Amino acid sequence: MIRMKEGSGIVVANKKIRMMIPGPVEVHPDVLKAMGSAVEPHYGDAWVAKQQRVTEILKEIFNTAGDVYLLVGSGTCAIDAAIGSCLQGGEKILVGTNGYFGDRLVSIAKHNGLEVIEVKATWGEELDADEIERALERDPSIKAVAVVHSETSTTVLNPIQDIGPIVRRHGQLFIVDAVSSLGGVPFSMDEWCVDACATATQKCLGAPPGLGPIAVNERAWKSIDRLQTGEHGWYTDLRVWRQYAQEWGDWHPTPVTMATNNVNALLVSLTQLKAEGITKRMERYRSLALQLREGMRKAGIAPFTPDEKLNPVLTAGVAPSGVNSAEIVRYFLQEYAIQISGGLGALKAGIFRIGHMSPVMTSEDIELVCEALASFCRTRNL
Ligand SMILES: *Cc1c(COP(=O)(O)O)cnc(C)c1O
Repeated sequence: MIRMKEGSGIVVANKKIRMMIPGPVEVHPDVLKAMGSAVEPHYGDAWVAKQQRVTEILKEIFNTAGDVYLLVGSGTCAIDAAIGSCLQGGEKILVGTNGYFGDRLVSIAKHNGLEVIEVKATWGEELDADEIERALERDPSIKAVAVVHSETSTTVLNPIQDIGPIVRRHGQLFIVDAVSSLGGVPFSMDEWCVDACATATQKCLGAPPGLGPIAVNERAWKSIDRLQTGEHGWYTDLRVWRQYAQEWGDWHPTPVTMATNNVNALLVSLTQLKAEGITKRMERYRSLALQLREGMRKAGIAPFTPDEKLNPVLTAGVAPSGVNSAEIVRYFLQEYAIQISGGLGALKAGIFRIGHMSPVMTSEDIELVCEALASFCRTRNL
């Protein structure tokens, strides 16, 4: 029954598991090999060149002429740095919320002492750019807007390209959580008027967890530089990272010990992405998403969002009536050795989520997922 998967995936009870959750993702064997390379100093000419190469490729993926830093930490560390550095306690931030990670942005903002104005959309719907504009018009004291690009809890992609120009026109700062989209979903930071953007290595960037890349432009720096130093700690103050990049950049470019093995792994993954071609990679994910949606419907399961709004790296299905999505998750693991996810929050039992944001994901993987879904439905007489 179980078709074994080649490669570097995890093994549970002697079964190699196909990991198809929305991050972390299974990584290429060469990426893992780099992760296991000798520990090296995070300074010196060879190191500086390597780190520069990584940030150069990341700039291409962010599509920005701004600065990119590699924070040692998860994606949330980079989000915390963006929100905490750009604003100071007591200032107002508008957060668009339509899922678990939007709520997380609210929490991060509050932990940074900010006053939060929320513009909500129903979980499963995208944020409404016009509604954000009206909220900005109502309250000119709002300093920044923060939004999640790919809302991983619902698979919804928020219209960053519509919201950005509105925020720019009103003179505020636009901060985006692109943790589960950067590298897998087209993103154009400068064109879309995004001022600070945070991501992580363990999702579409195809590397192990451990780094939180962040991109910041001139407008963000202006906002950061008007603030007093030392308001929200040191580690996630972007000025500290800039200071080391500027003053020590030619030999020791970071304020803390860089996670060198993670950078080595990321460099391999990014080099593979460049070799495949950034646009090509994204188109490949998109065709995997379409293949999955077709298979879902064939099995009798409805995709949670319409095809016109598909997320190229993440697909959710609606659990058939009378079925808790946890049963589908369990069936996938037991019968097919595929690890998928249930929903979150109010959608916990109602949807299941399949991540296809790993560079090693193939159409054979998707075919097997479709087979598993059809088999589940047959077994349950659905
Ligand atoms: C995974 C995820 C996060 C959290 O990232 P960590 O690396 O776990 O800190 C934040 N936002 C979104 C949209 C995510 O998908």
